[in-house]
Amino acid sequence: MERTFIAIKPDGVARGLVAKIIKRFEQRGYKLVALKMVKPSDAHLREHYADLAGKGFFNGLIEYMKSGPIVAMVWAGENACAGGRMLLGETNPQSSLPGSIRGDYSLTIGRNICHGSDSVESAEKEIALWFGKDEIC
Ligand code: ATP
Repeated sequence: MERTFIAIKPDGVARGLVAKIIKRFEQRGYKLVALKMVKPSDAHLREHYADLAGKGFFNGLIEYMKSGPIVAMVWAGENACAGGRMLLGETNPQSSLPGSIRGDYSLTIGRNICHGSDSVESAEKEIALWFGKDEIC
């Protein structure tokens, strides 16, 4: 079964959107196989976003991700990576349609509430970075 890594970023947690986001994944039919609330280290977040290290917004992104607890999850189901990103909406909430999570709850790319793996390969890498094998059901 395909798996994806989904994170509710600090703004999503602070705004009380955890249950609403989980509900959308559950009602679509994905299965929750791992979940925890974490405050990752600077090094962990730099590894998660290693591909973006050269970007001008990189340090701001790391500070944003360190600004509060994150809810980290693994969801499983058919086409979970692409389907999960469809539920989240576009990276930039301004391009996200109403009905998607970002389209309904956010306005700016620097505070876009959630993360979802962009491919099966990156999902497996991210799942291994965020969870131990014994934390996944
Ligand atoms: P995520 O990895 O969070 O799901 P993504 O894969 O859709 O996002 P990326 O291009 O990998 O998009 O960007 C990762 C994150 O970096 C974005 O979700 C957003 O929080 C932040 N980000 C991207 N572009 C910008 C920008 N121009 N200004 C500020 N933050 C940005």
